[in-house]
Amino acid sequence: MLITKGYATKGPKSPLEPFTFERRDPGDTDVLIDIHYCGICHSDIHQARNEWGGSTYPMVPGHEIVGRIARVGKAVTKFKVGDLAGVGCFVDSCGVCDSCREGVEQYCDASPVWTYNALEKDGKTQTFGGYSSQIVVKESYCLRISPDLPLSHVAPLLCAGITTYSPLRHFGVKAGDRVGVVGLGGLGHMAVKLASSMGAHVTVFSTSDSKAADARRLGADSFVVTKEPKNFIPLANSLDFILDMVSAPHDFNAYLNLLRRDGLMVILGVPEKPMEIHPFSLIGKRRRLAGSVIGGIRETQEMLDYCATKGITSDVEVIPVQKIGEAYERTLRSDVRYRFVIDMKTL
Ligand code: NAP
Ligand code: ZN
Repeated sequence: MLITKGYATKGPKSPLEPFTFERRDPGDTDVLIDIHYCGICHSDIHQARNEWGGSTYPMVPGHEIVGRIARVGKAVTKFKVGDLAGVGCFVDSCGVCDSCREGVEQYCDASPVWTYNALEKDGKTQTFGGYSSQIVVKESYCLRISPDLPLSHVAPLLCAGITTYSPLRHFGVKAGDRVGVVGLGGLGHMAVKLASSMGAHVTVFSTSDSKAADARRLGADSFVVTKEPKNFIPLANSLDFILDMVSAPHDFNAYLNLLRRDGLMVILGVPEKPMEIHPFSLIGKRRRLAGSVIGGIRETQEMLDYCATKGITSDVEVIPVQKIGEAYERTLRSDVRYRFVIDMKTL
């Protein structure tokens, strides 16, 4: 077994603290990755604090993992020692259901094995995430990372990047489409960069007026401060597509009413409590509402290669591991520009 250092929380109200645990020795098809950077996703906070229910402890969060391959099993073909590699939100899946066979393992019938806060396929080994020195993963659940991009800025692509790329591609967003981005956080800023790189006309909806200049720099064409209900009026029935990435309860109906006839809103954010939708927000204009979760391994690789070609990465604030608690508090105050990334050298 491999002794591994990390940061864990022992319960929903506990801080993240140093924690030592064991990982399996790499098997024939596994790789061992020395973790260099791990992003802090709002999903880490939701789960560390048990806001979705069912969290298990101790929990080592983190699913935006990048580093270098330190060891490979003897049947590994995709990686060699020294290669850059990434791990996202899941580390295994059943491999035989329709979703797995179609390469959308995130929708695995048996549930993907999440990178942390889950059990391995043996039904008893707890998974531990990327706020740690190293991780052992099947090579088929690992991603190749371009050496041309700054590694700390790539980490957030493993969740924030793919979660926004996947619905933009799946639902066929194209040049000229009018796209609304709700919530300019970790996911939101990637949505702006990716949608604008695809030629969409992007409008950001934000509670933070201080983010207006950033939104334009990231590629948005317009910026709406949502604290003023009157700001919604001129945009009624105008948008083709909306990505909603808000982490807290808010009014879906206000955004649905901005869609044109047959427009589509995709929910990505997962607030703690359910939210109400009025049928009139949908039926009068045959509007559609959908959800989407991260992306499959094939599409995540496609997104990473796309970002390498286009020079797209995340705007990050790199922090030492000792500052995770502060970073959580600042994320909760929407005070992150636009993703905290932990430098694992500081462990
Ligand atoms: P984040 O960086 O904290 O961004 C969330 C943004 O939501 C904030 O920056 C803020 O933007 C806005 N916001 C926060 N509180 C609000 C409130 N009370 N009312 C209105 N707007 C508010 O979080 P993230 O990492 O991007 O994650 C966003 C959500 O997506 C989380 O719920 C996370 O769990 C979920 N998620 C889902 C998937 C998936 O696969 N579907 C993947 C990853 C994350 P402004 O300052 O611009 O208002
Ligand atoms: Zn995430």
